[in-house]
Order: sequence, then C-alpha cells, then structure tokens
Amino acid sequence: MQTKFTEEQLRDPDNFANEKVFKKCVHCGMCNATCPTHQLLGDELDGPRGRIYLIKDMLENNRKPTEKVVKHIDRCLSCYSCMTTCPAGVNYMHIIDHGKKYIEKNYQRSFFDKLIRYFLSITLPNTKVFRLSSLLVKLSKPFKFLMPSKIKDMIELMPTKFPKKNLPIKEVYKSSIKKKNC
Ligand code: SF4
Ligand code: SF4
Repeated sequence: MQTKFTEEQLRDPDNFANEKVFKKCVHCGMCNATCPTHQLLGDELDGPRGRIYLIKDMLENNRKPTEKVVKHIDRCLSCYSCMTTCPAGVNYMHIIDHGKKYIEKNYQRSFFDKLIRYFLSITLPNTKVFRLSSLLVKLSKPFKFLMPSKIKDMIELMPTKFPKKNLPIKEVYKSSIKKKNC
C-alpha cells in the first residue's frame, strides 16, 4: 500500500512504526474472510482492510475522526482473527491500537457514550460485577421500552444464565482419566 506521510508526520514514532505496517498491505482482502464483523455486517468498512484504509486516511491527512469512521473502528473487536489469514504478515494489531488511540485524542464522544464505555470497562473484566449487572438487567427487562435503543440492544445481548463454576484444569484432567479407566 502506498503511503504519503510527510517527514514531519514521520517524526511521530507511532506514525513511523505504522507507515511500515501500512506498506506491507497488498489490499488482497483475505483478512476479511476471517473477520467476524465483516462476516456479520458485510460492509467493507467493517472489515480489517477497510479499517486500515480509514486509519491511514485519518493519520496521513491529520483528519479529525468523523462519527462514521469512529463507528467502524469502534466495531472492531480486537480479536485479531484477521492476522491469522494475512499472507503479507500485516501487523493489524499495531494499526488498530494506534487508530483507537488517535480517536480517543481527537474525537469528542457524547456524555452518554462515555458513560456506556465507562460502565463496560468496569463490568466486562470483573465476573462478579458482570453477574450482578446481569441480575439488574433481568429485573429491568419489563421497562426496556422506556430506554434508548443502545441500552435496549445491550439488554438483549446480556446473558441471564451462566454455566456452573468451571472446575480447575487439574480436576477436569483427573475426572477424564477416571472416565477412561472405567
Ligand atoms: S481484530 Fe477481529 S474484528 Fe477487528 S478487523 Fe480483525 S478480525 Fe475483524
Ligand atoms: S490480508 Fe493482509 S495484505 Fe491482504 S488486505 Fe488484509 S491486511 Fe492487507
């Protein structure tokens, strides 16, 4: 992929590192085949190749992120499944991390978005808080019609049942050995 960063832009170490990664991309689109958001939404901009274009365009032109660009970048799950199918070894992880960082610096999110993001950052990494919020979601379901569409979607996605606590791996191994010997 051709790039047109200026010398001044390349003095930024992030731009410098990213330019090398952009140059490796040959636009083949093989990465789209293993991208869950591209598979689900079928939009070029919701796949890795499209996101690489969006981020490159923002960085090269010192462009302020638009709502549309932020939407497509936000939708990236950072699962890096795309990296497993890239024949050119493009380090997409590097690009998306930098793109997200650039957006956080240069885009003013609404108060509501900030609140949701803060809530998710507290809830998702913590099992106890997640289970507790799932209970609250269950109780709030009858009042869902009063809520904004984003919250409604989140309520729909929230699981309300969980598997029993996982056994430690040693126990799983022991019980499988026992079963074999029976
Ligand atoms: S990290 Fe995951 S969601 Fe993001 S572009 Fe790659 S495969 Fe798609
Ligand atoms: S598979 Fe790799 S080289 Fe091909 S478009 Fe995707 S990132 Fe670029």
